[in-house]
Amino acid sequence: MSRAPDVAVIGAGVFGAWTALQLRRSGRSVTLVDAFGAGNSRSSSGGASRVVRIGYGREAIYSVWAQRSLVAWQELFRDGRHELFTQTGVLWMARADDPSTDATIETLRRLRVPFETFDRAKLEQRYPQFNFGPITRGVLEPEAGVIMARRAVQAVVRQAVKQSVDYRLTAVRPPSGDGPLDALVTSDGDRITAGTYVFACGPWLPTLFPTVLGDRLTPTRQEVFFFGLEPGDRRFAPPAMPAWMDLAGGVYGLPDLEGRGFKVGLDHHGPPFDPETGDRTVSADALQVARMILARRVPALKEAPLLEAHVCQYSNSWNGDFVIDRHPGLDNVWLVGGGSGHGFKHGPAVGTYVCDQLSGRGTPEARFTLDAHQQSRERGIF
Ligand SMILES: Cc1cc2nc3c(=O)[nH]c(=O)nc-3n(C[C@H](O)[C@H](O)[C@H](O)COP(=O)(O)OP(=O)(O)OC[C@H]3O[C@@H](n4cnc5c(N)ncnc54)[C@H](O)[C@@H]3O)c2cc1C
Repeated sequence: MSRAPDVAVIGAGVFGAWTALQLRRSGRSVTLVDAFGAGNSRSSSGGASRVVRIGYGREAIYSVWAQRSLVAWQELFRDGRHELFTQTGVLWMARADDPSTDATIETLRRLRVPFETFDRAKLEQRYPQFNFGPITRGVLEPEAGVIMARRAVQAVVRQAVKQSVDYRLTAVRPPSGDGPLDALVTSDGDRITAGTYVFACGPWLPTLFPTVLGDRLTPTRQEVFFFGLEPGDRRFAPPAMPAWMDLAGGVYGLPDLEGRGFKVGLDHHGPPFDPETGDRTVSADALQVARMILARRVPALKEAPLLEAHVCQYSNSWNGDFVIDRHPGLDNVWLVGGGSGHGFKHGPAVGTYVCDQLSGRGTPEARFTLDAHQQSRERGIF
């Protein structure tokens, strides 16, 4: 009979996959389990692409984590056969009264992250593709970019398997009881025993742990659209077009990558959504909003045909902070989630943090504890 692993990680999204890899790199034996597979289409990590940037307004801890994580992502990709990170640059679009942009500039300077600032005239000169409307200035992080999300998570799992993580495709039933958890029971009736259990189940967490997380995490329906370009038109692909964000306007966009089209994402929280059974038919209302924004912001794409659209879900905490804490009743169970609309880039740093917490090294960040997570909604971290 094989020995029980030190840690079982449940969920091979970006948080669970990186947690499994970092735990393994720290010398632990690890089993990683996912119900549908790494980067599956129901998971929050299962989209085509995710933006990686360092700026986070006043929330400098996420800047530090993003900076460290980007290095780890690039190291991982260096070993692979495919290009999974494109240095598109990321352009912050800011409105007149926006102290968070000043805070971003301050943090980027402190962390020695290269950046460029633009006033309105300079923005218009550099990016004639945009109609900037209420935008008065911009900040470009030229070294930031876009990760091909689904394939990147799968690459993390491949690396973990290469380093002897035992990866299994099966669903785990919600654990119950108090004290230390003895074993997990899978949907096919098997048992998985480990010293410690890390649940990184993204938007499934509130259903798996309704008492602890039911009011603390809210999955919401989010829609993204890819619009087609004219043949040979390179104005909307890198290097001419960066990824861009107008957070006050509730919208972000990605340039054409891999011929997929110009991506427009609506960042305002949609209605509550069940990741397992939720209907992923794109809504006519959201498409209309995306088209309206496109017509206003990128006039040349007003009539662009829709190529693809997807429904995904954010797993929102009350303010956007992650939840990384021990289960209050099950001593050897950890909960890792709350990636909200910005968690992807931080996978490597989340994995390292979980690793340190499990070994008792490193001070816990108060903001990630269950106690810090309120039931009110006050989105502050993007
Ligand atoms: C449209 C959209 C755009 C986004 N844009 C960005 C962006 O630009 N930049 C950025 O940094 N972040 C972005 N995010 C956020 C980011 O994608 C998420 O924060 C991150 O993917 C969350 O990962 P996760 O591992 O917590 O969850 P998930 O990826 O959902 O992984 C959870 C996994 O757990 C598995 N699972 C669940 N229950 C069980 C069970 N009982 N047994 C076994 N396995 C189970 C699931 O199958 C799943 O694979 C975006 C999110 C969305 C939806």
